[in-house]
Amino acid sequence: MTSSSAPRIPGTFFLHSPGPVRLPQQVANALGTQPFELGDPALDELIARCESGLKKVFGTSRSDVFLYAANGHGAWEAAICNLVAPGKCVAVAGSGAFSEAWAQYAEELGVQVRRTACETGHAADPAAVGQLLRADTAHEIVAVFVVHTDTGASVTNNLQAFRDEIDAASHPALLVVDVVASLAAEPFDMDTLGVDVAIGASQKALMISPGLSFMAVSEKAMRVAEANKTPRVYWDWLRRRSDLGYRKFCGTPPQNLLMGLDVALALIFEEGLQNAIARHRLLAGAVHAAVEGWSERGDVGFFVREPRSRSVSVTAIEVRPGIDPEKLRTVAREQFQVGIAGGVGALVGRIFRIGHLGDLNAPMILGCLAGVEAAMSISGIAYGPGLERAVRLLSASTTENTQ
Ligand SMILES: *Cc1c(COP(=O)(O)O)cnc(C)c1O
Repeated sequence: MTSSSAPRIPGTFFLHSPGPVRLPQQVANALGTQPFELGDPALDELIARCESGLKKVFGTSRSDVFLYAANGHGAWEAAICNLVAPGKCVAVAGSGAFSEAWAQYAEELGVQVRRTACETGHAADPAAVGQLLRADTAHEIVAVFVVHTDTGASVTNNLQAFRDEIDAASHPALLVVDVVASLAAEPFDMDTLGVDVAIGASQKALMISPGLSFMAVSEKAMRVAEANKTPRVYWDWLRRRSDLGYRKFCGTPPQNLLMGLDVALALIFEEGLQNAIARHRLLAGAVHAAVEGWSERGDVGFFVREPRSRSVSVTAIEVRPGIDPEKLRTVAREQFQVGIAGGVGALVGRIFRIGHLGDLNAPMILGCLAGVEAAMSISGIAYGPGLERAVRLLSASTTENTQ
């Protein structure tokens, strides 16, 4: 699992990036299954199970679900070109590298973007979106884009607050959310929240290999898509709204990823979606307790200052200037078999990130934290009692769902 020239290291590699995540063995087995012949009814049944399972995870009974043989970036483009014609406008709630990258995709496609200011490490500002909407008396803004968990900064936004701002402004804009990093980890209920489009991807808390994305689309958003004349073929929702698998995917369905999704959804429902969400909250709490403890020596600390904006999927840890988090990552990966993430964009060299989403339990999180502590020791980084705090928190909690 480490570099190919290194000798084999026995045991498990602790993959703690915020996607891709470790695959449950059942999912890995499904990915290795022989594909179907395209006329086999079992293939249609597989697709139908994936669609209905995704609806449950998205919390929607009224939306259409579309799946793409594409990563999350593909789904971003699908949302833009189905909803917004070049020259039309979207508002993007600034929350970090992911909201900014999505905004740039829209601009590349000729869409006008009105951004709200982003102070990285802080949640996006719903009131600033409200101001943009109230100023838009001509109703040029077709949609408000919000990233639920902006993975680069490990910050989670309050989606309800954005819904409330759109309602308070009496603006017809659609609410379009990227839940790629939070789906099946953070509470999310599309219908209750009044979300029009929700976007997810396979390699985060859905515990599958990268390469599949999916989106749920409300009736209101479908009507906007119907009226939108932007040329589009592969991404087109209207073309994909069909009973035929070959049409739904604009060609051969990515069968093995669907088999993986089918198994992953069954695992989530076997555990119980609410239990999986509670488990993410508990394990995130353990990581947060550890970072709190580490920060007592001053070399490392939380990047996200407000506790309520910290993600349950990933935690960004800021290092004191002079410390190289990339070196720490290399030591963690090569000497302790713990794979953690670095910063993206402007945060490269300032933070490292621990992913804690997907198929994880308490001892796995403790193993990761111990590996990071060992790597910090070797790298000469001073830290307070983090692992100890995490052990205490996990042993004090009811851990029946995590064992
Ligand atoms: C990972 C991620 C993406 C991008 O997904 P890819 O599959 O890498 O294209 C988009 N948004 C968020 C919030 C993510 O965490």
